[in-house]
Amino acid sequence: MKAASFDYQRPATLHAALRLLADSAGGAKLMGGGQSLGPMLNLRLTRPKQVIDVSALGELRQVTQAGDAIRIGAAVTHAEIEDGVHALLRGSVLQSVAGGIAYRAIRNRGTVGGSLAHADPAADWVLVACALAAEVEIASQAGTRRVPMDRFMHGAYTTALAEGEVLAALWVPKLGPDAHWGYFKFCRKTGEFAEASCAAVFDPARKLARVVIGALDGAPQALPALAAQVARSGAMPARAAIEAAVSASAPGKDAIDRKLLVAAVERCLAQVLMLESVQ
Ligand SMILES: Cc1cc2nc3c(=O)[nH]c(=O)nc-3n(C[C@H](O)[C@H](O)[C@H](O)COP(=O)(O)OP(=O)(O)OC[C@H]3O[C@@H](n4cnc5c(N)ncnc54)[C@H](O)[C@@H]3O)c2cc1C
Repeated sequence: MKAASFDYQRPATLHAALRLLADSAGGAKLMGGGQSLGPMLNLRLTRPKQVIDVSALGELRQVTQAGDAIRIGAAVTHAEIEDGVHALLRGSVLQSVAGGIAYRAIRNRGTVGGSLAHADPAADWVLVACALAAEVEIASQAGTRRVPMDRFMHGAYTTALAEGEVLAALWVPKLGPDAHWGYFKFCRKTGEFAEASCAAVFDPARKLARVVIGALDGAPQALPALAAQVARSGAMPARAAIEAAVSASAPGKDAIDRKLLVAAVERCLAQVLMLESVQ
């Protein structure tokens, strides 16, 4: 099956993209890398009159620092982060995670903004962005607004983005020298979406202590009591405590899913605490 016909636009500026979007009155779809939108078009799950390609917009292609935060333009690709193209992201949790997203061909085109806007519960960026307590910058003809990641993803494939809005950037904190992070996901095979995942970030300088689980039915869920315990003790919590935290934040999971999530949390925290392995 092939996509139904549509008008394709590749505006030169964000301003022009926002005007096209407003003029379309809901009939247009934005395109980042097209790695999720392409299949949806081909399967005719979406039939926009117009596709507005934002992947080359200069305003969305940069990584810059402002104060103690880093602004990652929405059209920065997974591969660029993996390859360390942007010096500000070298050695970061984002660089470490980028290389494990899908396959290289998808990473070459897929963008941070497209992934966040798509809001697949099993996606990597939504989970890491939650763990970093990041914020999403959203642009429209009315101006820009910033939404904390905890409030951006409302559920599976549902976000705070409204008609006429473009996800312009992701703002992540610049972590201090004593920060530790971990990331672990179970995938049936390399390149597949996660079946259970966990990201954790601890940064004493920024008073950041976050443990977040993903690949749930909806948005990633934080485990705040567990994070506080790890920050306080600097030790791996008892398995019973991890099980209780997972059950509280992701109720209704069957025994196998719960076990995968608990193991993902343990392995993620083992990275944070720099333990050799977890039994
Ligand atoms: C086989 C396969 C395996 C994959 N495995 C993984 C994986 O393991 N982990 C993972 O995280 N992801 C995975 N993905 C998804 C991949 O990371 C995609 O790149 C990502 O989901 C979408 O990014 P994109 O830039 O291609 O967005 P697009 O496909 O272009 O767009 C996706 C959606 O976001 C909207 N959109 C795009 N850009 C913007 C913007 N700037 N503002 C507002 N809305 C926008 C589009 O309208 C569309 O609705 C996989 C994809 C495939 C096909």
